[in-house]
Amino acid sequence: MPFAEIIGQDRAVEALRAALRRGALHHAYLFAGPEGVGKGTVARLLAQAANCERADSDACGACPSCRKIARGVHPDVLVIERERDMARAGRWEPKGGRTPSRDIVVDQVRELVDRRLSLRRFEGRRRFVLLDPADAMNPQSQNAILKTLEEPPPDTTLVLVSSSADGLLPTVRSRCLRLPFAPLPVEVLETRLAAAGRAPELARLAATLAAGSMGRALALDADAIGERRAAVEEAAALSSDDARAWIAFAKRRGEKREQARELCELLLVWLRDVLVRAAGAGAAPLALADLEEATDAAARLGPEAALRRIESVRRALTALRHNASAPLALEHMLIGWFHHG
Ligand SMILES: [Zn+2]
Repeated sequence: MPFAEIIGQDRAVEALRAALRRGALHHAYLFAGPEGVGKGTVARLLAQAANCERADSDACGACPSCRKIARGVHPDVLVIERERDMARAGRWEPKGGRTPSRDIVVDQVRELVDRRLSLRRFEGRRRFVLLDPADAMNPQSQNAILKTLEEPPPDTTLVLVSSSADGLLPTVRSRCLRLPFAPLPVEVLETRLAAAGRAPELARLAATLAAGSMGRALALDADAIGERRAAVEEAAALSSDDARAWIAFAKRRGEKREQARELCELLLVWLRDVLVRAAGAGAAPLALADLEEATDAAARLGPEAALRRIESVRRALTALRHNASAPLALEHMLIGWFHHG
């Protein structure tokens, strides 16, 4: 797979290709951005491109080196994953029969990274250590990798793949060149979902709710969307004089923060429908056609009410992004809907 097949990450890819062409790869990169936007794929592609036997500053995908890297068996390209995942794949065994951890543990850094880097290169032109996800390194492992980040061996590049880079130790972050990966545009997600055989309406909704992540978009199948849609219907049916019902709703729907976020995104889609109807555009097609009855009922409260509700949902989304408690964020959203002025 060549770089040209990576969609929506032109800036990151261009920066890496320019460094490859100049023969000036940095010794440590931090690939930072949302989950499911291609960071891990680009990291592997970078290792392939730097070692490809045929293509220049790209990966042919077919030469022995490219194929070994793709299969994870190239001796100069080391991929470190959560201990549990590596144990499951038979690539690592925890010491003393310990249950494998969900973290990348300090033993992995010492036994795999340090030991491997103390050896000569085998067959590659450039050696790579890919830490994916780097967020899985606990503070001990991060401290253990600091030494390598400070004094990297020659012709070696470390890539830290992270969807929550701010959670890494500042000492680790400051020793890496940060390369931001962008959330994927809704249209890109929608096109890919449609190409994967999703019905057009489902593809559009999943793309809208996925926050720029292909991984999340793919996980939002018909069942998951149906479930979020049921929650919107439930919210639409809440009454302003039954506070107990909204608190119960907020508690239940706030149990999983990612689902609470997706619910808020879908509420925005629905409230735009409400706004269209409230503004008197009776014939305009609705994004959520099967909620028409609830939409018309909410539209009768007028466009100001719809706008105020949209504002409340946006505030809830901001709070969720800043790690506020999800049930509380939803509860405040509903207070904004029902108690005003
Ligand atoms: Zn190749």
